[in-house]
Amino acid sequence: MKITKAGFATRAIHDGQEPEPATGAVAVPIYATSTYVQQEIGKHKGYEYARVSNPTRTRLEENMASLEGGSSAHVFASGMAAINAIASMYKAGDHIVCGDNLYGGVPRLFNQVLANFGLEFSYIDTSKPDNVERAICRNTRLVYIESPTNPLMALTDIAAVARICRKKDVELVVDNTFMSPYFQQPIALGADMVVHSTTKFLNGHSDGLGGVVVCTKPAQAEKLQFLQKAAGAILSPFECWLVLRGVKTLAIRMEQHDRNGREIAEFLSVHKKVKKVFYPGLRSHPQYALAKRQMSGFGSMIAFETGSLANAKKMLKRVRVCSLGESLGGVETLISHPATMTHAALGRQGRLAIGITDGLVRISVGIENVEDIRNDLEQALAAI
Ligand SMILES: *Cc1c(COP(=O)(O)O)cnc(C)c1O
Repeated sequence: MKITKAGFATRAIHDGQEPEPATGAVAVPIYATSTYVQQEIGKHKGYEYARVSNPTRTRLEENMASLEGGSSAHVFASGMAAINAIASMYKAGDHIVCGDNLYGGVPRLFNQVLANFGLEFSYIDTSKPDNVERAICRNTRLVYIESPTNPLMALTDIAAVARICRKKDVELVVDNTFMSPYFQQPIALGADMVVHSTTKFLNGHSDGLGGVVVCTKPAQAEKLQFLQKAAGAILSPFECWLVLRGVKTLAIRMEQHDRNGREIAEFLSVHKKVKKVFYPGLRSHPQYALAKRQMSGFGSMIAFETGSLANAKKMLKRVRVCSLGESLGGVETLISHPATMTHAALGRQGRLAIGITDGLVRISVGIENVEDIRNDLEQALAAI
């Protein structure tokens, strides 16, 4: 596999995406095949059956490994399938320390499925690294975090947690979906593996699901490859191609997401109808200094407080440029209501325990003209 040292935007376009040797096709072809002809028994061109490997998938995996600075990458049918594969690398009796404000699907998978197979989970506030050190016990094998968190944009000091993990001989996985490798490089900060829902910024066009695990050690790669083959939750060639296509513009998209994100966060932070704004790029964010140190941009995920469920309802009914919906990271601005949408399953008490109120609104700022997004929010907030 070729991993170059070129700049990020160049690697996003070229690594894994070399012209196809047989025809010179500049775009990686979609290899729609389930099997591959063999020259004789035991002699083939490296591909035997498409659950095990597919050339379009190989190209995407090379690209993802390059962008995250890992040794290899393994793509799965969704972000959740990728996270399930990570957990499947461990066994009954192993303990996993998790952040307490993870993407809602993760505790659902861990508590309602994998706990039945004997994996043990604890949830703690990882924004204070000392909590991680205290939570690690004799059978802890993995620390699993997201930074920034969804939707309150709390950060974890990845380098500090990585040092603790190294000392305790525990692996660290970071879900890097919110920042993308363009703004945050967890492996460079000491993480052992990185996971993404490619559904979000990596694909970037809201037209396909996917997940990827980027790892740093051959033993991890071997297990992940085996899980692709054994469990089969692989990403289809067509969806691999969609991510390869999307990722070519990742750098330029993230720049614009970040510019628009900063501007909308500023706008909201001085708006009379908005009580509080959660965005790591605001000086008022309690971890602003850490954000500047650990990320090279602040991205476009913002949460803000409208004061009540009624207020959130009134404004969300009025949005026109912003689309009311789950998901994030697409070119279009997506706006959502965590209490009734992404975080409904937590229950009101569970939500309030981590600070998610009924009046909280989350916005994934897209790359439209920022004045159109701002004007839309202005007219929607006028309903409050
Ligand atoms: C969406 C998301 C996931 C799950 O990914 P799917 O592709 O929807 O399965 C995991 N983590 C984060 C942070 C997400 O935003």
